[in-house]
Amino acid sequence: MNVTTLPKPPRVGLVSLGCPKALVDSERIMTKLRADGYDMSPDYTGADVVLVNTCGFLDSAKEESLEAIGEAIAENGRVVVTGCMGKDAEVIRARFPQVLAVTGPQQYEEVVAAVHDAAPPVPSPFIDLVPEAGLKLTPRHYSYLKISEGCNHRCAFCIIPHLRGDLVSRRPDAILREAEKLIAAGTKELLVISQDTSAYGVDLRHKAWPWKGTEVRAHMTDLAAAMGELGAWVRLHYVYPYPHVDRIMPMMAAGKVLPYLDIPFQHASPKVLRAMRRPANDAKVLQRIREWRSQVPDLAIRSTFVVGFPGETEEEVAYLLAWLEEAQLDRVGAFKFEPVEGAPATTMDEQVPEDVKQERYDRVMALSTRISAEKLARKVGSTIDVLIDAVDDETGGATGRSKADAPEIDGEVHLRDAGGLEAGDIVSVLVEDSDEHDLYGVPL
Ligand code: SF4
Repeated sequence: MNVTTLPKPPRVGLVSLGCPKALVDSERIMTKLRADGYDMSPDYTGADVVLVNTCGFLDSAKEESLEAIGEAIAENGRVVVTGCMGKDAEVIRARFPQVLAVTGPQQYEEVVAAVHDAAPPVPSPFIDLVPEAGLKLTPRHYSYLKISEGCNHRCAFCIIPHLRGDLVSRRPDAILREAEKLIAAGTKELLVISQDTSAYGVDLRHKAWPWKGTEVRAHMTDLAAAMGELGAWVRLHYVYPYPHVDRIMPMMAAGKVLPYLDIPFQHASPKVLRAMRRPANDAKVLQRIREWRSQVPDLAIRSTFVVGFPGETEEEVAYLLAWLEEAQLDRVGAFKFEPVEGAPATTMDEQVPEDVKQERYDRVMALSTRISAEKLARKVGSTIDVLIDAVDDETGGATGRSKADAPEIDGEVHLRDAGGLEAGDIVSVLVEDSDEHDLYGVPL
């Protein structure tokens, strides 16, 4: 049996100088790098690249910044410079020609790109929250917002808790402040990510923090409600169907949170889910989906499923297919079970042969593609909001996403006659056509 060994993520060292604003910039850059799969290095020697966030406010601060750059070069050698002194790039380059890149203050995208160039991220479908295609820098108009790290569960196919430890949630006020900053910088859509969004704040005992004259608890429902007031699209990923998810539905119905749930069900058969040791393994989940849709008729549910888990028989596959037919999920991704070094499922008996996995995968994908095509066809003739991702000046067309589409993993809306639109615009679109995954339309 082939066992996949996971690559080690690159490590970034950080030297952060200057005022609290510079510190916040550092936090934001590091948050983005963590979301991109980087680890932090507490020292120079363990770092693949060192980021020096400089201060250039006073001459003494500039000198301190230059000294810090010199030290990082001497100790590590692979240095990216950012921050206020980045405005004096020629001074830095004259003294330290070996610096890999110099970017200015608040040039988050450039500095993260420079780190990607210096120490490319190692994508791994087993641990990444963001899909491989999403490892490119996100454009300004949408941003991933990581609310916690690690996980308290111990799913049999997963090594994330082993790699990243138990759940550690960020303070809700810090998350909301970051969200506000992202929105002020042009973000129109916040993509909330974590390993288990529904469990957010469990480790903080759901404590409350002051926020804008009131309080916000470290709890998924409070956080979603507060984010819903910030004026951007709020899309929730990695939600497990715990009972409190029901309390998000009124926020979706009121237009505060996008009518979208990314729930990694992974299977439907109770027997396989038990063997997988999955959380929120609730036999009544179909009933819950029905209730959610009665409150939020346009709710889009995306999910992923694993076929060929050890011990899965034809009976369980038939159960899964019947469940999918009943659940009518909007977006489905399937994976063939792959043994990963260190995961308990890797050494389980009754491993499923590769050709059988492939055949099961094909059946799941054929069914979910048919369901997707049928659901999208029902949208033809309707009017939907579309967030523009890219415009094509040559054809006059544009590509965007509806509220039902997360970037990179879901479908797109292709627009004709979209002259004058820009990435980040949200426009009303008449849907004219559809296929298996995408919609086609014209702005109104
Ligand atoms: S919920 Fe399971 S699959 Fe997800 S990170 Fe935790 S242990 Fe891994």
